[in-house]
Amino acid sequence: MEWVIETRGITREYQLGEICVRALRGVDLTVRPGEFVAVMGASGSGKSTLMNVLGCLDQPTDGEYVLEGRDVSQLSRNEYAEIRNQRIGFVFQTFNLLPRTSALENVELPLLYDHAERVRDPNGAAVAALERVGLAERMHHQPNEMSGGERQRVAIARALVNNPSIVLADEPTGNLDSRTSVEIMSVLQELNDQRITILLVTHEPDIAQYAKRIVVMRDGRLVSDRPVWDRRSAVKDLESMAGSDDLIDGRDDVRGLVGGSMSGEVRQ
Ligand code: ADP
Ligand code: MG
Repeated sequence: MEWVIETRGITREYQLGEICVRALRGVDLTVRPGEFVAVMGASGSGKSTLMNVLGCLDQPTDGEYVLEGRDVSQLSRNEYAEIRNQRIGFVFQTFNLLPRTSALENVELPLLYDHAERVRDPNGAAVAALERVGLAERMHHQPNEMSGGERQRVAIARALVNNPSIVLADEPTGNLDSRTSVEIMSVLQELNDQRITILLVTHEPDIAQYAKRIVVMRDGRLVSDRPVWDRRSAVKDLESMAGSDDLIDGRDDVRGLVGGSMSGEVRQ
């Protein structure tokens, strides 16, 4: 398969009473399997709207969307939800975890909502997903007992539990300090090394340097598309941070992550 994502002339209009907001004005985007794309652009330029369409959370007003070779632009709501559950993992800026619910249960949730019950052992799958993000030992903790970085790792594990081929992350580091942001980028780079296609919205140029390609949106259109020449390695950056004197609170989870709690993991 040449393209995992292929859009032609995607538009999305919101009708607000008399006013028509044209959030997407004709987006042509193709993404190959294994790419890591950072989507940048000013607030209001249509980044989240594009991610929601690509993630089958929202349907375009017009245009064509071919996902893994299948035209999904005209599917029914149910078929749409089905594809979203099977093929796509979503990560949000605000984590969107259930508060008084353990990490394990949060990660298991998408499987319990899957009426087809494709995964025989939801519990085992959730544990495996938490292992992939280096959090297995914290699985019985609730989000309010975790740091921001840990919460986002739980959210990434939840995105992984269905074994998706694509992960869409909308400003996943937007609520995190810079060290924790790099930690999250190391998780995403590791997943990308395992051939998961990643699209990441960020407004931080430093964060975009961890991707392989940067596209820029303006007023609902793609206005720039270029490879990242001097790509950064988040693991290397964490190592050099760990050696410096700015260890924030003495937590050693960064070292744990770099030290390979994820490195031996393979996809189920
Ligand atoms: P970004 O993520 O780049 O900040 P968005 O995709 O959220 O941009 O928004 C693009 C445009 O669409 C903005 O003008 C925004 O106000 C508008 N918009 C987004 N979602 C809605 C909605 N649900 N209803 C009406 N307008 C919306
Ligand atoms: Mg947004």
